[in-house]
Amino acid sequence: MGKEKQVSLSNRLLSLRHHLHEYLSLGLKYNNEQEAKWVCIDAGIESHALKRMDAFLDYMSLSLAQHPLVQESISKIIPALTGILKSHSAASQNHAIEVTSKLVSVIQNSIRDYPTLEMIASLCHLLLSNHFVCTKKSSCVIAMSTILKKLGSVSGENHRKIKDILDANNIVGCISHLLNEMEGFTETVILLTTIVLGWPEMRYRVWKDSNVMKILEEHCDNSNISISTNVLKVLSSLALCSHGAKHMLKNEALYRKIIKCMGKSSAVGVRIESLILFRHFLRFGELISTTRNTNYETIVEAITDAMAISNGGPLLLEACRTTSVLTREAGPHHLQLWACNIDRISADIILRRFSSNQSFLGNKETLEVHQHVWDILSFLVAYLPQQFRPKSIGLDDLISSSCSWALTVVGRRSKSMSSDILYLDEPVCRALLLMLLSPCNYVSQTSRSILSALFEPYYDSISQLVERVFASLYSTSTGAVPTSQAISDLTILGCLATFPQYCTLILKRKGLNILLDVIKGRLDSDILVDRGKVMPHLKKLYSGKTCCSELFDDWEGADLSLFYALICLSQLIDASNYAIQDSTNSPFWRILSDDHIGEGPKSYCAYILSLFGVYGFPSNFGAKIGELSDLKVLADIRFLLSAGYTLDVHGAILAARCPKLVPSNIEALSDKMTIVKMSERVDREALGKILGYVYTGFTELNNLDEGCLKKVKVLANNCSLESLSQMLNKEWPKWGSCGSRFNLTGALGLDGHPFLDVILEAKSSKQIACNYSSCQLSTPHVHAHKIILCANCEYLRGLFSSGMHDSFSNLIKVPIDYEALVKLTEFFYHGKMPKVNPDCRWKSLTQEEQLSELTAYTELSSLAEYWFLEGVAEDSLSSMLPLLSYGNTDLEVIIKVVCFAYNLGQCRVVEMGVENLAPIYPKLRYSGYIAEAGDDVAEMLRVEHVRFLENHSSNLQ
Ligand SMILES: [Zn+2]
Ligand SMILES: [Zn+2]
Repeated sequence: MGKEKQVSLSNRLLSLRHHLHEYLSLGLKYNNEQEAKWVCIDAGIESHALKRMDAFLDYMSLSLAQHPLVQESISKIIPALTGILKSHSAASQNHAIEVTSKLVSVIQNSIRDYPTLEMIASLCHLLLSNHFVCTKKSSCVIAMSTILKKLGSVSGENHRKIKDILDANNIVGCISHLLNEMEGFTETVILLTTIVLGWPEMRYRVWKDSNVMKILEEHCDNSNISISTNVLKVLSSLALCSHGAKHMLKNEALYRKIIKCMGKSSAVGVRIESLILFRHFLRFGELISTTRNTNYETIVEAITDAMAISNGGPLLLEACRTTSVLTREAGPHHLQLWACNIDRISADIILRRFSSNQSFLGNKETLEVHQHVWDILSFLVAYLPQQFRPKSIGLDDLISSSCSWALTVVGRRSKSMSSDILYLDEPVCRALLLMLLSPCNYVSQTSRSILSALFEPYYDSISQLVERVFASLYSTSTGAVPTSQAISDLTILGCLATFPQYCTLILKRKGLNILLDVIKGRLDSDILVDRGKVMPHLKKLYSGKTCCSELFDDWEGADLSLFYALICLSQLIDASNYAIQDSTNSPFWRILSDDHIGEGPKSYCAYILSLFGVYGFPSNFGAKIGELSDLKVLADIRFLLSAGYTLDVHGAILAARCPKLVPSNIEALSDKMTIVKMSERVDREALGKILGYVYTGFTELNNLDEGCLKKVKVLANNCSLESLSQMLNKEWPKWGSCGSRFNLTGALGLDGHPFLDVILEAKSSKQIACNYSSCQLSTPHVHAHKIILCANCEYLRGLFSSGMHDSFSNLIKVPIDYEALVKLTEFFYHGKMPKVNPDCRWKSLTQEEQLSELTAYTELSSLAEYWFLEGVAEDSLSSMLPLLSYGNTDLEVIIKVVCFAYNLGQCRVVEMGVENLAPIYPKLRYSGYIAEAGDDVAEMLRVEHVRFLENHSSNLQ
């Protein structure tokens, strides 16, 4: 520890230290472990000691605090302060609080080197105490914030202990009380921010507290800027918790206020903070799409105004960050952005605004603004309608600019480029690729003609780029992490592949085989690199630790190399005579049936397969539903075709997958088959192919003649099967499309109502109102479709298709509770069980709610045995395993679940619970829970505990 740098203490400080120690020695006592404790209760001595501390700290500085003699003094001051904070004298307490604040502000982060747990506990006590004068509380709050701010960022044992202290002292309840009193409001809000940023696991206590949330909502647009910005800050910190954000989004009044705060009538600081908060909400696109769709004009006006401010500093940066997140998803806000001249504003930012020397941002921030603006442009062009034409020349300027930039990337060989420039390559090249692939004719044609003219003289450089990309692709396939430069190169390869002349070049260099190898290699690799990992500007969108992160899935998926390789390949295959022998054995089929791969790569795989006559997205659930098409017993619609041909189908499946085919005059709950006479023009074979797609999610049209293929196209179009139509027309995949998600939830909507032919009734005496119109049943139940229940349940399949009496009964008693029945229904219509994670939402549930979730899983795992429900038992148990562990769930709840499972004969659940509880068996015995559990469970716990001790001791030996 650089002793030579050590500063010497002045005589004045040494004498102050001497006096300080004199007084401290009057109150401090040491125990056997040499820990100091303040034991004096004399207010006079307290007061003198505090004055000495004050004087000593006045002479102190950060550098002096590193001196061993000073460190020794501080390690005495801390226990003294901790003791005096508990003093009976209000004057001493108040003075001690001030000295505490002063101490932390002098020694800064060094506070982490001293034991402060008890000090924090003392401050908590003071805040809770009723006798403590209200006006002094705000200085106590400030002292707490100052200490916690220094301690929050360092994780470890101490960090966890502080959380326990805050929890044990009900700090959130206390803060809620303080906020009500309005005294020191801003300070209290800052304390709250410090806590939820430093201790993410405290967040759910805050967003669950309706009083705190109500006050925060009331003040987020307070006219006092210091209040509103700090309230918005705490809300952003809370929104780092995805459940917290979802919870807040349910509050429409709050949402509207935040949008108002973003507008130009607010102060700059308020606009910045509300833009940050709004961005946090945008992570949950599907959740707010309805609200966003109704407020999009206000939102777009607010952000374009902020982006257009010519001397914009931090406000411009935040507006760009938020807009780049906002544009990721399609919606009416896209056209609104064009209406507000987003292209002119972007061109102004990129080509003009920063070229003069009057920048209001640093270099890093300027770069970040540019990166985001290019990202915004990429998303904008990706979602444009086909016939769109821009109003200004801003877009043309940007297209030219991205083409020239791409050309410099092609020629860039040396590694001596500054990383800043390299980090701009990727967003620019990506924007160019998305322009070339844009569904908008104007954008794709303009970018094609500019690029091909510009690139023409540089054939040699382009050949070298192709070699370079293949070399770096090989290194990625052997495990190297792709750099941002490698990604930019690959993006340009994608751009080149959209031109026939460069396709030939790439194909000559065996590009097709190389890319195929790369794709196969990517599928076996577990090194995934998404955009967020390569591009630093995306990391800045959300600062702070997330707790139960449910981040936005990029359409590109988690593996950027795979995505770009597929784009290139899709263009090359189109231009070559490559043939797939067996599509189900190809890597593309593998990608399509892999749940972990994103929608973007899947869309390009589906595009590639469509070049070989296979259209759609195969999935396991789809395959199961496909088997049902033969189950004629349950068919409820008969299509009459020309020449007397008929096709029997299931209305529920049509309602879910192709509502256009559902006849409009269908009668609810009729037992008879509805006969639908099809037009003469509907071809039997074409309709069969369409139905194959509807039932399974894909269809093979390899052996069809041209005429029939044409009929399939017409029919797909008439049936509004958009995704299939696009594939049949060989259109490039639309950015953001999500065709691969096969589920039947649509059948539970209005279209599927006429086909509801069975009621599943839970075992419960509770009364529940049914929102299905003609239903009189008051016991908890759900309405469902027999045909859909058959797909994943052999038992019901046997029952419904047997023709026995029961198959006509439309009420089935299910021996499970309503909560379990809801999960079961989700399983039937989604093809997989809903999962509950031991995250913030779980911890925010009451004991009763937790118990009902866990018993639901237990019941389902039991039902699965009798009903032959494939995968349900396994999924239930895997959901339960982490939930049954002590620390995630209350002991009492775990014991109750174990007993419940024992009575139901669910051995695996009992074993799981007992194994988790064994280590804390002695604690359980004291608690008395074991007595409630009954003899058998108690004995199992005892035996498991003995085994645990044996294993433990053998591990120690
Ligand atoms: Zn959370
Ligand atoms: Zn009902």
